[in-house]
Amino acid sequence: MKCPTCGCEKFYIKDTDDEYELYEFTAVNGKIEFDATPETQNIPEITAEIETFCDKCAWHGKFETLK
Ligand SMILES: [Zn+2]
Repeated sequence: MKCPTCGCEKFYIKDTDDEYELYEFTAVNGKIEFDATPETQNIPEITAEIETFCDKCAWHGKFETLK
């Protein structure tokens, strides 16, 4: 999975309850791996509809739009 704009494979999602809480992950070869943090157990479930943000550029969109 790569960002359609810049090709970066690192993204983040926002907590559905707290938009200032970010969860970074990489999606190399379609395998999602979150950065290990103390809050790891609170990671929201990634769905096709979840808003996903590129770590390197301004792209964001639904997770399902990633290739
Ligand atoms: Zn990007």
